[in-house]
Amino acid sequence: MSDVLAVADHRQGALRDVSFEAITAGRELADETGGELHVAVINGPVETFATELDRDGVDTIYTVDEGEEFNHDVYTQALTHLYDTVSPQYLLVPHSVNGLDYAPAVATQLGLPLVTDVVGLEAEGALVTTREMYGGKVETTVEVDGDEVVITIRGAEWPASEDPGNATIESFDVEIDESAIGSTVTGFEEVGGGDVDISDADVLVSVGRGIEDEENLELIHELADALGATVSSSRPIVDAGWLPKNRQVGQSGKVVTPEVYIAIGISGAVQHVAGMKGAKTIVAINTDPNAPIMDIADYAIHDDLFDVVPALIEQFQ
Ligand SMILES: Cc1cc2nc3c(=O)[nH]c(=O)nc-3n(C[C@H](O)[C@H](O)[C@H](O)COP(=O)(O)OP(=O)(O)OC[C@H]3O[C@@H](n4cnc5c(N)ncnc54)[C@H](O)[C@@H]3O)c2cc1C
Repeated sequence: MSDVLAVADHRQGALRDVSFEAITAGRELADETGGELHVAVINGPVETFATELDRDGVDTIYTVDEGEEFNHDVYTQALTHLYDTVSPQYLLVPHSVNGLDYAPAVATQLGLPLVTDVVGLEAEGALVTTREMYGGKVETTVEVDGDEVVITIRGAEWPASEDPGNATIESFDVEIDESAIGSTVTGFEEVGGGDVDISDADVLVSVGRGIEDEENLELIHELADALGATVSSSRPIVDAGWLPKNRQVGQSGKVVTPEVYIAIGISGAVQHVAGMKGAKTIVAINTDPNAPIMDIADYAIHDDLFDVVPALIEQFQ
């Protein structure tokens, strides 16, 4: 009993990045425990998903085909049965809307401890998890008192597993107790219009309060067009109603991991950084050299955005 079972996350027919990040985290954990890594994918086009999830380091992929979309009771029942069959030491669940829904129920039914929103894991001996508190201002380490644990992992904290694998794919048949199904997902609507998913973008041009006025956003859209980028923002821009909620990056917005993140007139408050620190290259444009964003930027442009952005637009056009 030293194996790891990671659960894939999907929505509207597509696997989410955190599924591949969970494979990386799960493989690292399994290497430490000397066990195997299994992946479970429940509902949706499970055969296609299983092929996509066949990444380096995965030993077995279990598919459960009991519907198209997420269902709390189906997930809870399927995972409880799968856990009993596979007998892993650790159950890794994405800390996503769905994961948050079923992980506590599965842990309760299995009588296991649950550690949520984990950003670091070590299992050489007792399981030690790292969690952030107070909006990322403090990091805590939690040693878990228990041999078997359910863990939810935060997205964008581990790199996504990319190399192809050679896993065994098995269909897992589970008798779902239909009478215990108490809720059904009837639809899905992205908050704030759902026109764009900023977490999919390769290049983000992100705007903050330094833009001063709604009409100045035109400059940001022009730069994004010139770069073929997507526009995102800090929270005050969304609070002011200048951009929809689905454009907000941060703790109460979305976590993004683009190749390039250009932060324009954004100070870099911890709640904002929590959503973009996984970007590969960070460019910051800010008049304040001491703004926290300048410390984490790969390229820090200490200047007025109203001078820099037009110059960049001209260059890129
Ligand atoms: C529970 C909670 C959750 C939160 N969640 C989020 C979240 O998800 N996302 C988020 O972003 N925030 C979030 N916040 C808010 C967060 O604390 C900050 O208030 C917010 O990120 C600040 O946004 P900003 O950087 O755009 O504005 P400011 O902090 O006001 O920074 C504006 C920056 O623009 C610069 N600037 C001004 N003029 C110019 C110019 N002409 N050229 C260049 N630079 C200029 C300034 O030097 C400054 O650094 C949350 C807060 C709480 C309490």
